[in-house]
Amino acid sequence: MNTILEVENLKVYFKTILGDAKSVDGVSLKVFEGEILGIAGESGCGKSTLVEGILKIYKPPCYIPEGKVYYKGIDLLSLPEEEFRKLRWKELSYVPQGSMNSLNPVIKIEEQMIDGILSHADITYREAKELALSALNSVGMPPDVLEMYPHELSGGMRQRVCIAMSLCLNPKIVFADEPITGLDVVMQKLNLQTLGDLRDKYGITVVMVAHDMACHAEICDRICIMYAGKVLEVGSTIDIFSDPLHPYTKGLLSAVPSLEKRNLKGIPGLAPSPLEWPSGCRFHPRCSYRMKICEEEEPVLEEVQPGRSVACFLYGGR
Ligand code: SF4
Repeated sequence: MNTILEVENLKVYFKTILGDAKSVDGVSLKVFEGEILGIAGESGCGKSTLVEGILKIYKPPCYIPEGKVYYKGIDLLSLPEEEFRKLRWKELSYVPQGSMNSLNPVIKIEEQMIDGILSHADITYREAKELALSALNSVGMPPDVLEMYPHELSGGMRQRVCIAMSLCLNPKIVFADEPITGLDVVMQKLNLQTLGDLRDKYGITVVMVAHDMACHAEICDRICIMYAGKVLEVGSTIDIFSDPLHPYTKGLLSAVPSLEKRNLKGIPGLAPSPLEWPSGCRFHPRCSYRMKICEEEEPVLEEVQPGRSVACFLYGGR
């Protein structure tokens, strides 16, 4: 598979009066063309900040002290803002967390979609409307949605309007941050199906951030597990679910409910603070497999099988 996006040792920090909060602290990963990559982990592990860093949509006090992001070989973080702006929407688009609540309730969908298109493309209103209609059609919504106000739509439908907005200029990659949070199960299913269709019908690469592992199981080809600002495991969805290697991945999966599994275990302890990550392996205070070395040295992310990488001393990590 061709690599469409490559992240190298990306760090995204927040300046605070107590020092830097190191939300993303040296992430490297590849996104392959035409795949759906899931980014998973508990709240606060840095998954949303990672996407904001990749797309350079963060605001002070957030900053990037180090790292590279290459999109089709273009060094994104070195691009002047005006150049980067040309890529957003057209090449790389974004459906932010809670985006269904970001629509203005008193402005019709048509105006909101077309304003977005016209601010990124030098085309006529009529052409923009055609693009809006086509995008709505891609997510299975009828044209008369354009005439509606957001308050006339359910949360799930508003979320799909936001996905449609992200598609208007035919992007190559869509980043969706928690796209089904807060929706009922029927709308969750529908919206995941919509994201799956983006890849299956339109060949769009999707990067989906979600804390819910079941959501990743539904549509992702590969999953990247994050913890404490780092990637701990990456692999195909089948491998991650059938044979999780990293103790943290095992813990995450033990907390996913199913009919067979009534005694959910979860992970003991709390996620650490980005102001002071634990020494050595950042997961060691919560890990039941920890060894002496785990408190002293940080394991590196290493390929342990083709397409499967883990950062843990149980599998190498030096
Ligand atoms: Fe547990 Fe050690 Fe592996 Fe970290 S490196 S996950 S503490 S066994």
